[in-house]
Amino acid sequence: MKERYDVVVVGAGPAGSTCARFAAARGASVLVLEKDRDVGMPVRCGEAVSNRSLEKIVDIDPRWIAATIKRFRLISPSGHVVEPDLGGYGYVLERRIFDYDLARLAVEAGAELHTKSYVDGLLPRNPEPGTTTDMSSEEKETSSAAKDRSDDSSGWRGVSLQWKGEPRTVEARIIVGADGVESRVGKWAGIDTTTHMRDMETCAQMTLSNVDLEEDACEFYFGNDTAPMGYLWVFPKGRGMANVGVGISGMASKQKAAIRYLQEFVERRYPGAGVLTTVAGGVPCATTVDTLVKGNIVLVGDAAHQVNPMSGGGITSGMIGGKLAGEAIARALEKNDLSLLNEYPKQWRKEVGAKHDTYYRMKAAVYKFPDETLDDIAVNVLKLREDKRTIWGVFKTALRHQPALVWEMMKTFGLRPSA
Ligand SMILES: Cc1cc2nc3c(=O)[nH]c(=O)nc-3n(C[C@H](O)[C@H](O)[C@H](O)COP(=O)(O)OP(=O)(O)OC[C@H]3O[C@@H](n4cnc5c(N)ncnc54)[C@H](O)[C@@H]3O)c2cc1C
Repeated sequence: MKERYDVVVVGAGPAGSTCARFAAARGASVLVLEKDRDVGMPVRCGEAVSNRSLEKIVDIDPRWIAATIKRFRLISPSGHVVEPDLGGYGYVLERRIFDYDLARLAVEAGAELHTKSYVDGLLPRNPEPGTTTDMSSEEKETSSAAKDRSDDSSGWRGVSLQWKGEPRTVEARIIVGADGVESRVGKWAGIDTTTHMRDMETCAQMTLSNVDLEEDACEFYFGNDTAPMGYLWVFPKGRGMANVGVGISGMASKQKAAIRYLQEFVERRYPGAGVLTTVAGGVPCATTVDTLVKGNIVLVGDAAHQVNPMSGGGITSGMIGGKLAGEAIARALEKNDLSLLNEYPKQWRKEVGAKHDTYYRMKAAVYKFPDETLDDIAVNVLKLREDKRTIWGVFKTALRHQPALVWEMMKTFGLRPSA
């Protein structure tokens, strides 16, 4: 590891590796630091993506695909099954291989990557006499000194880290926080990355074996007894395996934990299944953070809340964030003008952020519906002509009492009134 790079990326998830790949491909010297021993492990993800979003950012390798999804089922609290036409298909990935390969692609583009490298602070440009650069304690994070330094327009000098257990520092012109849902880089820099409890989906997931299901259909279960203010998913992974998980609002998890909803469902629905893994995690189903760039700090992926707030999917949207940030970083370095980093938030908003705002408002409306309304929506969608049973048909039916929101949805997604 050298002492100085153009860019240090903290975190080798899909967003960090993609950002590193795009910046390195245009000649930036990039260091990626990953705290875990293995990139992509542990997998805390349902692993579902849409083919169209993924192929926009990377050439798809068949080794990443555990299952190809052609059908998509929404199951209402009383069991009405709606199967809207998606107008495309999806994949359930093998993220162990996928994340690994995204990191490999970043390295092939010229980035340097180290695992077992835990970043524990930012280096202030002008440290006060006697201050250490280590900001790992909560007190230092919130100290007014730290806040003052973050407001310094000259930015941060680099990061401090534990590298294979040894403390060291690395300098960089630009620091990317790609450190996931529990991101600290943004907080250290004084960026407000707080997620309201109601928007933090608390998730639990099991990977099951020996389950009897259709290998090309994803299922989504709704209802207060199954997944309050969220949904439960069954995503096939081929050879009788499936990711079965639940995400509920942080508000709902105060009454009953996500894992309990999941255990009850699995016992009821797949009593003979083997449980290969059980994981828990949070998903920030909020709008994107207001500050994606502050001085020489850039946030991408979950660290920037670039998750689709409606579905909770953050793999491809985080990768889009990573790509846009990587390109803006390369341009800023080429022109030796860090103010060009601010192109990234503008591009993000244009390509994805504005859509996520609309999804957020749709989520806020839909998640308030009681079970009777969800059943009623399913019954009404089933009355639609088959060619109208699209995902938009479902949303239009769900939001029929909120014409302003339907109009906003049509406008944001460029839909015609007949869609
Ligand atoms: C249960 C569950 C199911 C999900 N299902 C889906 C799904 O089906 N489809 C979908 O699209 N999305 C899903 N998501 C969301 C998806 O997993 C995330 O949006 C996605 O992984 C975000 O990518 P990222 O690169 O921003 O962050 P991450 O993938 O979380 O990567 C961040 C990386 O940073 C590293 N890191 C953190 N702190 C430090 C540090 N201080 N120093 C060095 N390294 C650090 C971490 O070890 C990690 O490798 C799910 C999430 C959960 C919890």
